[in-house]
Amino acid sequence: MKKTYRFLGVIGLLGLLIVGLSACGSRKALSQQDVLTNDKASKTITWGVKADTKLFGLMDVKDNTIKGFDADIATAITKKILGKDGKAKFVQVTSQTRIPLLKNGNIDAIIATMTITPEREKQVDFSNSYFDAGQSLLVKKGSSIKSVKDLNKAGTKVIGVTGANSVANIKKYAPKAQVLELSDYAQAMTALKSGQGVALTTDNGILYGMASQNPGYQVVGGAFTKEPYGIAINKGQGPFKKEVNRALKEIEADGTYNRILKKWFGNVAGFNYKEASR
Ligand code: GLU
Repeated sequence: MKKTYRFLGVIGLLGLLIVGLSACGSRKALSQQDVLTNDKASKTITWGVKADTKLFGLMDVKDNTIKGFDADIATAITKKILGKDGKAKFVQVTSQTRIPLLKNGNIDAIIATMTITPEREKQVDFSNSYFDAGQSLLVKKGSSIKSVKDLNKAGTKVIGVTGANSVANIKKYAPKAQVLELSDYAQAMTALKSGQGVALTTDNGILYGMASQNPGYQVVGGAFTKEPYGIAINKGQGPFKKEVNRALKEIEADGTYNRILKKWFGNVAGFNYKEASR
């Protein structure tokens, strides 16, 4: 009797295995799926955008939508690729989560203050750059920190965000400083305000957005790096990348890009947005 049950059990397991395997076979691996074909069919492009970064991608709690320059550029590109009724869907990313979310196929592209760097190019593809930022510092008004050189002293604490290349840049430009890494820009600002570091470092555009919300703080030290922003796409998605670059060119040529640039940066005191524009 016992033997019969065991036999039936084995048959059952084998059955489950076969069903499971065939289900896997009918769905193509992510790396073999064509993002452009899928997005055209669903009339939707899923973008990874920041939700913690004023001016680029910030969650508006009043209507629960993400707003900013990156979000508007993503919407404009979506319309150029999919037509007027194409939908841009936004998924919240941070500096740390954006590449894993892209690689897992949770998002089709990243448009999230992301610098094109040789390291990242080993993992993902980038569109042509659409914004030229530069790394800078945010300090309390009246601070003795005036430039990145002032940070290069043992015991000096600087605040950054995990996954941002700004952290590695500080290790290069002020190797004696200690970098305290927080998980997003909202937390980094809170850490600066509570005195956990003497400066917060990331790109100038992001810092000007923070300064506009926190009048006791100012951007200092100029731009000490070059941070060209690109749209990151999975490797092997040539047709999609081509369409994104075509759409970028079109919005630059028809005035859409400039309208969006002025909307977000036209009135940001101290920030020369024309230098950042393509
Ligand atoms: N542009 C820099 C980067 O890509 C800093 C901004 C960010 O954290 O997204 O890492």
